[in-house]
Amino acid sequence: MLAIVARNIGRHFRRNCVAYELRDRRFRPVAASESSGERVARPTDNFDLDALRLRVVVRRGTEDLIAVAAEGQVLAIFVLENATMPLSDDDVKYVRVLVGHLALALSSAFAFEQLRRYAAEGAALVDAARTILGVTEVEALVRTLCGLVMRLVFAQYAGVYAHREGTLRLLGSAAAPGVSLAPAELAVDEADAKATLQRAFGMPISANRLLIGAGDGIEARPGLLVVARPQPFERQEQRLIDALVTLAALAIRNVELYERAVLASRALAESNAFKDDLMAMFAHDFRGPLTVISGFSELLLETGDAATRRNAETISEQARRLTKLSEDALALAATQSAGFSLRRTPEDLGDFVAEAIAPLERATGRLAFEAPPSAVVVPFDRSRLRHVVDNVVGNALKYSSGLVRVRVAGDAFEARIEVSDDGIGVPTGEIERIFERAGRATNARSRGIAGSGVGLYIAKKIVDVHGGRLEVRTILDRGSTFVVVLPMEPPAA
Ligand code: ADP
Repeated sequence: MLAIVARNIGRHFRRNCVAYELRDRRFRPVAASESSGERVARPTDNFDLDALRLRVVVRRGTEDLIAVAAEGQVLAIFVLENATMPLSDDDVKYVRVLVGHLALALSSAFAFEQLRRYAAEGAALVDAARTILGVTEVEALVRTLCGLVMRLVFAQYAGVYAHREGTLRLLGSAAAPGVSLAPAELAVDEADAKATLQRAFGMPISANRLLIGAGDGIEARPGLLVVARPQPFERQEQRLIDALVTLAALAIRNVELYERAVLASRALAESNAFKDDLMAMFAHDFRGPLTVISGFSELLLETGDAATRRNAETISEQARRLTKLSEDALALAATQSAGFSLRRTPEDLGDFVAEAIAPLERATGRLAFEAPPSAVVVPFDRSRLRHVVDNVVGNALKYSSGLVRVRVAGDAFEARIEVSDDGIGVPTGEIERIFERAGRATNARSRGIAGSGVGLYIAKKIVDVHGGRLEVRTILDRGSTFVVVLPMEPPAA
């Protein structure tokens, strides 16, 4: 637009007219070849802007300068060259009207340009945020950030410094080819740091305070984002850099939090594995001494007098409890280890359960067993399923005082072991809890019935890896039925 107006003004006055436009704080000629002269003008700031703003048309040697100003700022200047005489009053009037219109047009063009720039900046910032916030390692983050800053403000250099042991150390940077390396260390004092950078780069720099890792328990460390380029930074660009600094502080903090979380979860996993190992070791090493204790207490039961037998009975019972606990602990450790697998063989579930509950029936005389006449053959891991049956049937005996019914059934798809008692039941709302690790129902606790709460947790895990389900139907104070459901076909590995 300026070029067209310059050509028209040139034609009108039959003189060479060059238009200058304000860009990056300098007046740059607009498409000089378009104006009527051939000569290519150079960028310049050699204009008396105050006089131009005030008078619009200013005579300088053999040139007439015409200013186009909006809101107190000269946006463009037309230079009419080689005048023999100053412009007449009519000419000046004509020029004033012309530039008045032009100023209006230019200021709306500027406003539009400004809006476009804001939109582009916004989009660039969103992109930057996406990129920066996706990086999970500080060094990579800093490199990405520096690259972004360079691209966004056309800089020659960008670097991030962080406070360490009394100085600001370079964390990372990006530089255009041929740009000298930045100092690796800077004084914490901002003025000192700036002076050092100015000497190192020999071009305008923008040094921005960056608070690294503030908040969420991460100690704040001062830092600096340094940007350098040959042209001074405009206010708008500085604003963009400020936004990036805020973003960078956030991103660095995120990375530090992420690193902490990773470290913490690794430490947790290690200590968990260590605990499982320890538990397995203990449980295993308990067995020897427990066998000895049980053996001797049984001997006392047979040979001792009445008082000794009573004591021996207590010792025996507690030894059994400890044995059960150590078995649970061992099974628990096994289910927690990564290689928890099954050795499944197809077998008649009826035979298996009958055999498993026989010792309990001998000890309590409270079990009733039922199985269909034909075999219910299903693949399962004997020793692990034995643990499940012992636990579920043991619980039914423990949490009731009457007859416990154990029933095996099967169809084309599933085999089931149902264990029913008429005991204390589980309060509604606590059913999920009893399958959790160390989860016990309130009524079991309040009645003082001993237990660790890991039995069902392990049993459920074992049934789950079989591809089955452990279900329960229960009514408080009326009784419970626990059902172990196993699929006829083993689940695909
Ligand atoms: P515990 O060692 O406490 O018996 P379990 O994991 O075997 O641990 O069982 C978890 C909880 O489930 C028990 O503490 C008890 O509250 C409840 N529970 C299990 N079986 C029965 C049952 N047959 N009748 C009533 N409550 C039961």
